[in-house]
This record gives sequence, C-alpha cells and structure tokens, in this order.
Amino acid sequence: MTPKQGVSGKPPYDDDNIFAKILRGDIPCRKVYEDEFALAFHDINPQAPYHVLVIPKGRYVAFADFAATAPEAEITGFIRAIGHVAHMLGFEDTGYRLLANMGPDSHQEVPHLHVHLFAGRPLGPMLVT
Ligand code: AMP
Repeated sequence: MTPKQGVSGKPPYDDDNIFAKILRGDIPCRKVYEDEFALAFHDINPQAPYHVLVIPKGRYVAFADFAATAPEAEITGFIRAIGHVAHMLGFEDTGYRLLANMGPDSHQEVPHLHVHLFAGRPLGPMLVT
C-alpha cells in the first residue's frame, strides 16, 4: 500500500485552506491566544491532553516559505507567540513538544504553517515508525 502523503508544503498559498478560513472568522475555533502575529487554538482531533496549534497570521504554506520570506518582525512575533502560549498554559515545568510538518513525507494536511504544541502527559518517543 502506498503510504499516505501530505500536501506539497510549497507555495502558492491557497486562500481556501481551513486555517485561512479560521483566520478570517469564516469558521470557528477554540481560541487560546491571539496577537498581531499569531493565533493559537485547540486542535480538533487532539493527540495529547493539550494539543494546541499556533499559526502565523501571514499567508505561509509551511516552514520553508515562512523561514525564507517572512519579515523578521513576523518571524520574531510568531516564535514569541508560541513561547507565550506554552508559558501561559503552564507547561514549562512538566515540558512540552513542538512539531511543524512540512510537505509530503511529514503528512502535512493543512497548507498554512502551523506549529503543534503537545503537553499534559509524558509524550513518548519522538517519532512513530
Ligand atoms: P498537519 O498534519 O500538521 O497539517 O496537522 C493539521 C492539524 O489540523 C491536524 O492535527 C488536524 O486535527 C487539525 N485540524 C484540521 N481542521 C481543524 C479545525 N477546523 N480546527 C482545529 N484543528 C483542525
């Protein structure tokens, strides 16, 4: 059987992707945090007691185009927002895991950059083989 593959992770950006719709307010989310640069909300299909997605407000498909083309203020703002969410939720003592999928082998499903934040229990090995 051919393994399931994700989206390409490369531009062009699709304004109809589900996270673009969440950013526009076209569909709801369970918001955790929002600022000028980022929005954080609960994953609809949580894989840990806490599974929060943090997304930049800009139109970036994945980590690659964000890292290569985003203005420094957006990069700083996004990274600080992720740190703020983890701090705000109280996971700095017990720890947490961040994960960003990019492209087919990662099984990226949604073509808008997002960082998964997992926490709330021991998270096991880094990768499922
Ligand atoms: P990825 O495979 O890294 O692209 O992850 C996409 C994530 O988005 C998955 O964990 C989904 O459960 C999550 N997801 C998809 N649609 C929604 C939604 N409407 N609200 C919250 N999370 C979503």
